Amino acid sequence: YSKGILEGNIVSTTGYVPDVDKHAIELKNVKKSYISGDLETQVLKGIDIVLEKGDFIVILGPSGSGKTTFLNIISGLDKATSGDVFVLGSNLSLLKDSHLTKFRRKNVGFIFQQYNLLTNLTAKENAEVGENLSTNKNENFSIEKIFETIGMTDQLNKYPHQMSGGQQQRVSIARALTKNPSILFADEPTGALDEEMGRKVLEILVKINREFKTTMIVVTHNPNIAKIGHTIIHIKNGLIDELTHNANPADPSTIDWS
Ligand code: ADP
Repeated sequence: YSKGILEGNIVSTTGYVPDVDKHAIELKNVKKSYISGDLETQVLKGIDIVLEKGDFIVILGPSGSGKTTFLNIISGLDKATSGDVFVLGSNLSLLKDSHLTKFRRKNVGFIFQQYNLLTNLTAKENAEVGENLSTNKNENFSIEKIFETIGMTDQLNKYPHQMSGGQQQRVSIARALTKNPSILFADEPTGALDEEMGRKVLEILVKINREFKTTMIVVTHNPNIAKIGHTIIHIKNGLIDELTHNANPADPSTIDWS
């Protein structure tokens, strides 16, 4: 099996076989409901989509449209109520929770609006929490190379309180990168940052996608930020409203932040 396929679990509920070589993610009629008490709220209402390996994908939509729910399902943080969620050849809908955890650890990295660094560890030590460096044979993913990529070579021994928000977010990117993930998921990665720091973080995400061919999936509610994507998925009311292929993705340094 190639990297990412756990226990050969490419089985679908319909007999459909995904294209594992080309597609990082394929969704087939994916629905998600939340149940609280007697009340069932359907948040995703039947999503079909194919996401190519190596693409820079932005998920755009207003607050409450289902972006985070969508991201959580395609990243294996949460499970769909029905439908098939093929990610790197595994059908996440069919994985047991313990296998889902294993899948995430092995294949995907996460960046959130909050950096969640450990306050008593240095930048380098925080990045190393991301694990797998010792077993990783790819020299691009040494701590030194990663800190070079994020422009923080001189900050390796700083503690979180000695860094700006943007620098802390870059360390969280380093932490996600240490395992050389096939896919990097970022949920509003610049949500807590001002314009200058936010641009820098987006520039790094673009660079990672370009240099390491990491499939990048970024959630934002900001249409201007979405312009950095090669593929833009517009989510509205739990459905894909529009899918745009952007031939000229914006350079993060030129986007209007407002
Ligand atoms: P977005 O990321 O676009 O703001 P979300 O995916 O966070 O949207 O939420 C979509 C809808 O699902 C919202 O109406 C939200 O209140 C609801 N929702 C999200 N998570 C839960 C949950 N755990 N339980 C119940 N409802 C939820």
